[in-house]
Amino acid sequence: MASNRTFTMIKPDAFAEGHSGAILKMIEEAGFKIVAIKATQLTAELAGKFYAVHKERPFYNDLCNYMSSGPIIAAILEKDNAVTDFRALIGATNPADAAEGTIRKLYAKSIEANAVHGSDSDENAEIEGSFFFSQIERVK
Ligand code: GDP
Ligand code: MG
Repeated sequence: MASNRTFTMIKPDAFAEGHSGAILKMIEEAGFKIVAIKATQLTAELAGKFYAVHKERPFYNDLCNYMSSGPIIAAILEKDNAVTDFRALIGATNPADAAEGTIRKLYAKSIEANAVHGSDSDENAEIEGSFFFSQIERVK
């Protein structure tokens, strides 16, 4: 059965340009409920842990530096089929390939500075949400 929660980050580029409110509005209007949220800033070391799955990829160091370059918003979202539906709402990794009306099409600047993160599986959604939030920091 598909899980009903996913994890997202509003990345440093979108946060710095003041798009957080507009992005959260799109998320809520698409039917997601925010069940945990915080503003924070990763260190490069913490970004490295979060993205450890990508450590062999050529962009890994750049990604860790970028993701620790400024404040972000981390959030857990709830909706039926949350992971799949949220990936559809954010659009393709590269904004050049992202569908019209998606968050990345509207707000991403590049394949790296692509405005938002969305978990790619139910298992990773739980791991990623727990990376940022304790049990008391999220709606039961
Ligand atoms: P996502 O699941 O759509 O976020 O994409 P991935 O899991 O494949 O990559 C994680 C993140 O790494 C992306 O969201 C981008 O911020 C960054 N990234 C992915 N591919 C590239 C790339 O080819 N070059 C650079 N510089 N960054 C990339
Ligand atoms: Mg991914």
